[in-house]
Amino acid sequence: MEQINRHFNGRLFTIATMHGKEQAIVPILSRAFNMIFSPAGELDTDQLGTFSGERERELSPLESARKKASDAHQQSGIGIVIASEGSFGPHPAMPFVAGDEEILCLKDFDNDNEIVVRVVSAATNYAMKTCMDRRDVREFAQRAKFPTHALIAKQAATSYSNMVKGIYTLSQLDDVAEQFISRGGSVYLETDMRAMNNPSRMLVIAEATEQLVTAMNSLCPLCTTPGYHILTVEPGLPCSLCTSPTRSTLYAQWGCSKCNHTENKYYPSGKTAEDPMYCDYCNP
Ligand SMILES: [Zn+2]
Ligand SMILES: [Zn+2]
Repeated sequence: MEQINRHFNGRLFTIATMHGKEQAIVPILSRAFNMIFSPAGELDTDQLGTFSGERERELSPLESARKKASDAHQQSGIGIVIASEGSFGPHPAMPFVAGDEEILCLKDFDNDNEIVVRVVSAATNYAMKTCMDRRDVREFAQRAKFPTHALIAKQAATSYSNMVKGIYTLSQLDDVAEQFISRGGSVYLETDMRAMNNPSRMLVIAEATEQLVTAMNSLCPLCTTPGYHILTVEPGLPCSLCTSPTRSTLYAQWGCSKCNHTENKYYPSGKTAEDPMYCDYCNP
Protein backbone atom coordinates (compact mmCIF):
# COMPACT_ATOMS: atom_id res chain seq x y z
CA MET A 1 0.00 0.00 0.00
CA GLU A 2 1.22 3.48 -0.80
CA GLN A 3 2.18 5.58 2.18
CA ILE A 4 0.83 9.08 2.52
CA ASN A 5 3.46 11.72 3.17
CA ARG A 6 1.74 13.90 5.78
CA HIS A 7 4.27 16.70 5.28
CA PHE A 8 3.31 17.35 1.68
CA ASN A 9 0.12 15.51 0.80
CA GLY A 10 -2.52 17.77 -0.73
CA ARG A 11 -0.58 20.97 -0.04
CA LEU A 12 -0.55 24.05 -2.24
CA PHE A 13 2.74 24.97 -3.94
CA THR A 14 4.07 27.38 -6.49
CA ILE A 15 7.10 27.60 -8.75
CA ALA A 16 9.33 30.65 -9.01
CA THR A 17 9.81 30.65 -12.75
CA MET A 18 9.00 32.38 -16.01
CA HIS A 19 10.19 29.76 -18.43
CA GLY A 20 7.56 27.05 -18.46
CA LYS A 21 9.35 24.75 -16.01
CA GLU A 22 5.98 23.99 -14.39
CA GLN A 23 5.29 21.67 -17.34
CA ALA A 24 8.10 19.39 -16.10
CA ILE A 25 7.61 19.80 -12.33
CA VAL A 26 3.85 19.96 -11.67
CA PRO A 27 2.73 16.53 -13.01
CA ILE A 28 5.39 14.72 -10.96
CA LEU A 29 4.48 16.43 -7.68
CA SER A 30 0.74 16.07 -8.19
CA ARG A 31 1.19 12.35 -8.87
CA ALA A 32 3.55 11.78 -5.92
CA PHE A 33 1.80 13.84 -3.23
CA ASN A 34 -1.48 15.13 -4.70
CA MET A 35 0.05 18.58 -4.37
CA ILE A 36 -1.87 21.47 -5.93
CA PHE A 37 -0.06 23.96 -8.14
CA SER A 38 -0.93 27.64 -8.05
CA PRO A 39 0.93 30.16 -10.24
CA ALA A 40 2.93 32.79 -8.34
CA GLY A 41 1.97 35.64 -10.63
CA GLU A 42 4.37 37.88 -12.50
CA LEU A 43 7.93 37.50 -11.28
CA ASP A 44 10.82 38.94 -13.25
CA THR A 45 13.37 36.20 -12.62
CA ASP A 46 15.55 37.60 -15.42
CA GLN A 47 16.55 40.34 -12.97
CA LEU A 48 18.83 37.79 -11.35
CA GLY A 49 20.73 37.11 -14.58
CA THR A 50 20.07 35.56 -17.98
CA PHE A 51 21.64 32.69 -19.88
CA SER A 52 22.19 34.77 -22.99
CA GLY A 53 24.61 36.89 -20.97
CA GLU A 54 23.15 40.42 -21.16
CA ARG A 55 22.72 40.28 -17.41
CA GLU A 56 25.40 38.50 -15.37
CA ARG A 57 24.36 36.31 -12.49
CA GLU A 58 25.91 37.69 -9.32
CA LEU A 59 24.67 35.06 -6.88
CA SER A 60 25.65 31.38 -6.87
CA PRO A 61 23.01 29.14 -8.47
CA LEU A 62 21.75 27.96 -5.05
CA GLU A 63 21.66 31.50 -3.59
CA SER A 64 19.83 32.66 -6.69
CA ALA A 65 17.26 29.85 -6.35
CA ARG A 66 16.73 30.76 -2.66
CA LYS A 67 16.24 34.42 -3.56
CA LYS A 68 13.68 33.56 -6.25
CA ALA A 69 11.85 31.26 -3.82
CA SER A 70 11.56 33.89 -1.09
CA ASP A 71 10.46 36.55 -3.61
CA ALA A 72 7.74 34.22 -4.90
CA HIS A 73 6.67 33.40 -1.34
CA GLN A 74 6.42 37.08 -0.38
CA GLN A 75 4.47 37.89 -3.48
CA SER A 76 2.06 34.94 -3.42
CA GLY A 77 1.86 34.01 0.27
CA ILE A 78 2.05 30.33 -0.77
CA GLY A 79 3.82 28.16 1.83
CA ILE A 80 5.76 25.84 -0.48
CA VAL A 81 7.85 27.31 -3.29
CA ILE A 82 10.12 25.46 -5.69
CA ALA A 83 12.86 27.36 -7.48
CA SER A 84 15.12 25.92 -10.11
CA GLU A 85 18.41 27.09 -11.51
CA GLY A 86 20.36 25.69 -14.44
CA SER A 87 24.07 26.09 -15.18
CA PHE A 88 25.84 25.02 -18.36
CA GLY A 89 29.48 24.38 -19.13
CA PRO A 90 32.00 21.57 -19.30
CA HIS A 91 30.70 18.39 -17.62
CA PRO A 92 32.62 17.98 -14.30
CA ALA A 93 33.39 14.31 -14.99
CA MET A 94 33.93 14.63 -18.78
CA PRO A 95 35.68 17.95 -19.60
CA PHE A 96 35.13 17.72 -23.38
CA VAL A 97 31.41 17.11 -23.02
CA ALA A 98 28.86 19.85 -22.26
CA GLY A 99 26.97 19.47 -18.99
CA ASP A 100 23.63 20.78 -17.71
CA GLU A 101 23.51 21.15 -13.94
CA GLU A 102 20.01 21.67 -12.56
CA ILE A 103 19.42 22.65 -8.95
CA LEU A 104 15.96 22.38 -7.44
CA CYS A 105 15.34 24.11 -4.14
CA LEU A 106 12.10 23.43 -2.27
CA LYS A 107 11.31 25.91 0.50
CA ASP A 108 8.60 25.01 2.98
CA PHE A 109 8.10 28.42 4.59
CA ASP A 110 5.32 27.14 6.88
CA ASN A 111 7.70 24.64 8.50
CA ASP A 112 11.00 26.49 8.00
CA ASN A 113 12.51 23.68 5.96
CA GLU A 114 14.62 23.54 2.79
CA ILE A 115 15.32 20.58 0.49
CA VAL A 116 17.90 20.89 -2.29
CA VAL A 117 18.71 18.41 -5.06
CA ARG A 118 21.22 18.61 -7.91
CA VAL A 119 21.42 16.71 -11.18
CA VAL A 120 24.30 16.93 -13.65
CA SER A 121 23.50 15.58 -17.11
CA ALA A 122 25.42 15.27 -20.35
CA ALA A 123 22.10 15.19 -22.23
CA THR A 124 22.26 18.82 -23.34
CA ASN A 125 22.65 20.61 -26.67
CA TYR A 126 24.54 23.51 -25.02
CA ALA A 127 26.87 24.98 -27.70
CA MET A 128 27.85 28.19 -29.48
CA LYS A 129 29.68 29.07 -32.68
CA THR A 130 30.71 31.96 -34.90
CA CYS A 131 29.36 31.14 -38.36
CA MET A 132 30.70 32.69 -41.56
CA ASP A 133 28.13 31.51 -44.10
CA ARG A 134 24.87 29.62 -44.56
CA ARG A 135 26.62 26.24 -44.59
CA ASP A 136 28.16 26.97 -41.18
CA VAL A 137 24.78 28.08 -39.90
CA ARG A 138 23.01 24.93 -41.13
CA GLU A 139 25.73 22.66 -39.75
CA PHE A 140 25.57 24.29 -36.31
CA ALA A 141 21.75 24.26 -36.32
CA GLN A 142 21.69 20.53 -36.93
CA ARG A 143 24.21 19.85 -34.16
CA ALA A 144 22.18 22.05 -31.78
CA LYS A 145 19.00 19.95 -32.38
CA PHE A 146 17.28 22.83 -34.20
CA PRO A 147 14.34 23.25 -34.77
CA THR A 148 13.02 21.22 -31.80
CA HIS A 149 15.42 23.37 -29.75
CA ALA A 150 15.53 27.14 -30.31
CA LEU A 151 18.61 29.24 -31.15
CA ILE A 152 19.86 32.72 -30.33
CA ALA A 153 21.68 34.92 -32.87
CA LYS A 154 24.00 37.84 -32.11
CA GLN A 155 26.65 39.82 -33.98
CA ALA A 156 29.30 38.56 -31.54
CA ALA A 157 29.54 36.67 -28.23
CA THR A 158 29.13 39.79 -26.06
CA SER A 159 27.10 41.97 -28.42
CA TYR A 160 23.51 42.20 -27.20
CA SER A 161 22.05 45.18 -29.04
CA ASN A 162 20.49 43.31 -31.98
CA MET A 163 20.26 39.90 -30.33
CA VAL A 164 17.41 37.67 -31.52
CA LYS A 165 16.22 35.01 -29.04
CA GLY A 166 13.86 32.09 -29.53
CA ILE A 167 14.54 31.37 -33.22
CA TYR A 168 12.43 28.32 -34.12
CA THR A 169 12.01 28.24 -37.90
CA LEU A 170 14.56 27.70 -40.65
CA SER A 171 13.35 30.70 -42.66
CA GLN A 172 13.76 32.97 -39.62
CA LEU A 173 17.21 31.51 -38.92
CA ASP A 174 18.30 32.10 -42.54
CA ASP A 175 16.96 35.67 -42.54
CA VAL A 176 18.50 36.64 -39.22
CA ALA A 177 21.85 34.98 -40.00
CA GLU A 178 22.02 36.71 -43.39
CA GLN A 179 21.39 40.11 -41.81
CA PHE A 180 24.21 39.65 -39.28
CA ILE A 181 26.60 38.24 -41.90
CA SER A 182 25.98 41.06 -44.37
CA ARG A 183 26.36 43.64 -41.58
CA GLY A 184 29.43 42.24 -39.80
CA GLY A 185 30.84 39.36 -41.84
CA SER A 186 29.68 36.63 -39.39
CA VAL A 187 26.91 35.62 -37.00
CA TYR A 188 27.32 34.25 -33.47
CA LEU A 189 24.85 31.45 -32.83
CA GLU A 190 24.12 29.85 -29.49
CA THR A 191 21.58 27.41 -28.08
CA ASP A 192 18.61 29.01 -26.31
CA MET A 193 18.77 27.49 -22.83
CA ARG A 194 15.49 28.90 -21.48
CA ALA A 195 13.53 25.80 -20.43
CA MET A 196 10.50 26.40 -22.67
CA ASN A 197 12.79 26.58 -25.72
CA ASN A 198 14.86 23.55 -24.79
CA PRO A 199 13.17 20.11 -24.45
CA SER A 200 16.48 18.48 -23.42
CA ARG A 201 16.64 20.80 -20.44
CA MET A 202 13.01 20.08 -19.53
CA LEU A 203 13.92 16.37 -19.30
CA VAL A 204 16.81 17.11 -16.92
CA ILE A 205 14.48 19.26 -14.79
CA ALA A 206 12.01 16.35 -14.70
CA GLU A 207 14.85 14.02 -13.60
CA ALA A 208 15.73 16.49 -10.81
CA THR A 209 12.06 16.58 -9.77
CA GLU A 210 12.04 12.77 -9.40
CA GLN A 211 15.06 13.13 -7.10
CA LEU A 212 13.23 15.84 -5.19
CA VAL A 213 10.34 13.41 -4.60
CA THR A 214 12.80 10.86 -3.19
CA ALA A 215 14.29 13.53 -0.90
CA MET A 216 10.81 14.69 0.21
CA ASN A 217 10.09 11.09 1.23
CA SER A 218 13.37 10.78 3.14
CA LEU A 219 12.54 11.56 6.79
CA CYS A 220 14.93 12.20 9.67
CA PRO A 221 14.73 9.18 12.05
CA LEU A 222 14.90 11.52 15.05
CA CYS A 223 12.60 14.47 14.28
CA THR A 224 10.84 13.15 11.08
CA THR A 225 11.65 16.32 9.09
CA PRO A 226 11.72 15.55 5.34
CA GLY A 227 14.93 16.07 3.38
CA TYR A 228 17.20 13.73 5.36
CA HIS A 229 20.18 13.39 3.04
CA ILE A 230 23.77 12.24 2.51
CA LEU A 231 26.32 14.79 3.76
CA THR A 232 29.55 12.97 2.84
CA VAL A 233 30.77 9.56 1.77
CA GLU A 234 33.89 7.96 3.25
CA PRO A 235 36.11 5.62 1.21
CA GLY A 236 37.82 2.57 2.74
CA LEU A 237 35.72 -0.50 1.88
CA PRO A 238 38.18 -3.39 2.66
CA CYS A 239 39.59 -5.61 -0.08
CA SER A 240 38.10 -9.10 0.08
CA LEU A 241 41.57 -10.67 -0.44
CA CYS A 242 44.05 -8.59 1.64
CA THR A 243 41.57 -6.49 3.73
CA SER A 244 43.42 -3.23 3.04
CA PRO A 245 41.18 -0.18 2.49
CA THR A 246 40.12 0.58 -1.11
CA ARG A 247 38.75 3.78 -2.64
CA SER A 248 35.22 2.38 -2.64
CA THR A 249 32.71 3.78 -0.15
CA LEU A 250 32.81 2.32 3.37
CA TYR A 251 29.99 4.45 4.78
CA ALA A 252 27.81 7.44 3.97
CA GLN A 253 27.15 10.08 6.59
CA TRP A 254 23.48 11.10 6.63
CA GLY A 255 22.26 14.28 8.26
CA CYS A 256 19.18 16.35 9.10
CA SER A 257 19.42 20.07 8.46
CA LYS A 258 16.67 20.73 11.00
CA CYS A 259 17.84 18.97 14.18
CA ASN A 260 21.49 18.32 13.13
CA HIS A 261 21.15 14.58 13.81
CA THR A 262 23.80 12.60 11.88
CA GLU A 263 24.36 8.91 11.39
CA ASN A 264 26.93 6.79 9.51
CA LYS A 265 25.34 4.15 7.30
CA TYR A 266 27.88 1.44 6.46
CA TYR A 267 28.09 -0.52 3.19
CA PRO A 268 25.66 1.65 1.15
CA SER A 269 26.30 -0.46 -1.98
CA GLY A 270 25.23 -3.59 -0.09
CA LYS A 271 28.64 -5.29 -0.11
CA THR A 272 30.96 -5.51 2.89
CA ALA A 273 34.17 -6.12 0.90
CA GLU A 274 35.54 -4.95 -2.45
CA ASP A 275 36.68 -7.04 -5.40
CA PRO A 276 40.55 -7.28 -5.41
CA MET A 277 40.35 -5.84 -8.95
CA TYR A 278 39.82 -2.40 -7.33
CA CYS A 279 42.49 -2.88 -4.66
CA ASP A 280 45.66 -0.77 -5.00
CA TYR A 281 47.75 -3.52 -3.36
CA CYS A 282 46.39 -6.63 -5.08
CA ASN A 283 45.94 -4.91 -8.44
CA PRO A 284 48.23 -1.87 -8.61
ZN1 LIG B 1 43.74 -6.31 -1.77
ZN1 LIG C 1 16.01 15.76 12.39
